[in-house]
Amino acid sequence: MINVPFVDLKAQYVTIRDEISAAIGECLENTAFVQGKRSKAFEEAFAAYLGVRHVLACSNGTDAIYLALKALGIGPGDEVVTAANTFIATAEAISMTGARVVFVDVDPVSNNMLPQDAERKVTPKTRALLPVHLYGHPADLDGFRRLADRHGLFLVGDAAQAHGAKIAGRDVAQLADITAYSFYPGKNLGAYGDAGAVATDNPEFAEFIYKFRDHGCREKYVHEIEGVNMRIDELQGAILNVKLPHLDSWTAARRGHAQAYTRNLAGVGDLVLPVEAENVRAVYHLYVVETARRDELMAFLRENGVATGIHYPVPLHEQPAYRHLGMKPEDCPVASAKGRRIMSLPMFAELTDTQIEYVTGKIREFFG
Ligand SMILES: *Cc1c(COP(=O)(O)O)cnc(C)c1O
Repeated sequence: MINVPFVDLKAQYVTIRDEISAAIGECLENTAFVQGKRSKAFEEAFAAYLGVRHVLACSNGTDAIYLALKALGIGPGDEVVTAANTFIATAEAISMTGARVVFVDVDPVSNNMLPQDAERKVTPKTRALLPVHLYGHPADLDGFRRLADRHGLFLVGDAAQAHGAKIAGRDVAQLADITAYSFYPGKNLGAYGDAGAVATDNPEFAEFIYKFRDHGCREKYVHEIEGVNMRIDELQGAILNVKLPHLDSWTAARRGHAQAYTRNLAGVGDLVLPVEAENVRAVYHLYVVETARRDELMAFLRENGVATGIHYPVPLHEQPAYRHLGMKPEDCPVASAKGRRIMSLPMFAELTDTQIEYVTGKIREFFG
C-alpha cells in the first residue's frame, strides 16, 4: 500500500528549507515582527506577478475580502451577490461589513457562479458581485464585468484558491475592481500561519486599505480614520517573499498532475472530471471529481491509504448559519446536488507520478 496524503506541506518545505530558515532568522535578528520591509517587498513582488498596481497584504483571506468590500464603501443596507458553493469565509466577510449576503447557484460544469444567474438576484440594493474562482478555475469575469457595468456594480474577486489563474492570458486580478487572496498554509501560495492580500489597480481603494488595516494610520499615531488591526505578520511576509518565485513551477506541477488524473480517469465508471474552459489557465487548487458512489469511493480509497476531501459537503444556503435567509435547498439545486457527489483527490505540487498512478489505479479498481 502507498500512503497518499491529501496535501503534504512538509514535502514542499524540505525543498526550500534553507531559504526559509534564512528569511525567518533575519526577521528574528532584526526583531521585525509586524508589516516590515519583507512584507513590503512581497507586496511589490506579488503586484508585479499579478500585473496590478497595488497589493496590500493583511492578516488572512477572510479579512482580505472584508477589506476589499470596505474599500468600496459597502455596509448595512447593501447586498452582495456571491456563490452558494464556496468556503463560508466569502459570505462571512460580506456579513462582517453589515451588508446582506445573496447566494446564487453554480454552473454544473465550472462549479462557478454564472453572470446570467447572478443577474436574476440583482436588486436596487445590490452594490457588488463577488464571484469565487473555485478550485482555481476562473469565473467568467468578462461576463461579470458586463453585468456589473449594466447595473453600476463593483466587481470583486475571491481568488483565495486561484493565485495566478488567467483568462485569455490576463491574471484574474486584472479583470476585477479588487481581488482578495488567502495565504492559508494549504493554499497554492501558502504562508506558515495566516495571511492574505488585496490586489487592485485603483489608487483610492489601495490608499483606504493601506490605512484602514492599520488603525487608520499613514503616520504612526495619526489616525485619519477609525480602522482595524488586520496587518500581516512580518514572518509571514518574509516566508511569502521566499515562496513567490516558486509559484509558477508549483502551478505547472499542479496542472501536470491534473492532466495525468484526467488522462487516467477518462471514461472510468460514472466519474465526471474537471473541464478547463477554453482560453483559461486554471491553477488546480483542488482536483474535484463527481460520482453517485462518492461515499463508497472515498471509503475504499481511505482503506487503501489515499486521503480525499469534500469541498464543500453542504452549500452555504443550506447551512444553519444562513437559516435567517429562509432559502430552501431547491433555491440552488446544482450546489445542493453537488454536495452529495463531489470529492477532491490529492493535489499538491510535490505529488509524484507513482502516487498519481496508484490513486487512479485504485479508482479504476473500485469501478471494476
Ligand atoms: C481559504 C478561503 C478563504 C479564506 O481565507 P482565510 O485565509 O482562511 O481566511 C476565502 N475564500 C475561499 C474560497 C477560500 O478557499
